[in-house]
Amino acid sequence: MTKPCIITVAITGSVPRKEDNPAVPITVAEQIESTQEAFEAGATIAHVHVRKDDQTPTSDPERFARLGEGLRKHCPGMIIQFSTGGRSGKGSERGGMLHLKPDMASLSTGSCNFPTIIYENHPTLVRELADKMMEYGVKPEIEVFDLSMLYQALRLADEGVLTKPLHVQFVFGVKNAMPAIRDVLAFQVSQLNKLMPEATWTAAGIGRHQLEVNRWSLELGGHCRTGLEDNIRIDRDRLAASNAELVKGVAALCGDYGRHPATVSEARQLLGLAATG
Ligand code: ZN
Repeated sequence: MTKPCIITVAITGSVPRKEDNPAVPITVAEQIESTQEAFEAGATIAHVHVRKDDQTPTSDPERFARLGEGLRKHCPGMIIQFSTGGRSGKGSERGGMLHLKPDMASLSTGSCNFPTIIYENHPTLVRELADKMMEYGVKPEIEVFDLSMLYQALRLADEGVLTKPLHVQFVFGVKNAMPAIRDVLAFQVSQLNKLMPEATWTAAGIGRHQLEVNRWSLELGGHCRTGLEDNIRIDRDRLAASNAELVKGVAALCGDYGRHPATVSEARQLLGLAATG
């Protein structure tokens, strides 16, 4: 039996626009349809942001509620992960939908530079979001954009602010944050394995780094993230036709590393989530 790989599909994000790739799903209906295709292609976590119809990022809880409801209906058992990322709102607003109790939510545990902004996560805000996730039974995915964020997450887990074991995502290739270098991932994974061996992890590569980071993750025993949020192209000459096309690319790689795309029940079990969606 090969080892399962949980494939996360990051369907929309806050940056890519229809003008960049018409397949980027913006309306709730488009997001549900695109996620369902990706789910059928082998993705088991949907990482979602919401946008207004004019494509502006928002953290509107009503929109998150409609999206969550549609995903539960059309993608039975799929793990739903809401983004609390910084481009969709200010401060506490970013956690304003956690009462909807998605299975998971993203949580960055530090600040760094992004291409044109400071990605600001004040220590007080990190704790506030972590407390809310704990209150509503939402499992955080720790977003590590820079090395210190890993140690900060481990510290918060030791303090009981975050529940052990952690699920960590290493993000590579965001300009001004961590470059996509395999040794950097290998070092971070070795630290996580040493300091919290029971933790699970995944990695995301932005743009042209997407597939190479997927390969490194499969090789090093981690899980994979893909999707139009991170990368809108198949290669230099061709745009991705859908989130599902990107998911199929990762699913096809799994066999090369003695892995298979996790089923919903495998993914839920690996992450310690309730068996049903
Ligand atoms: Zn995101």
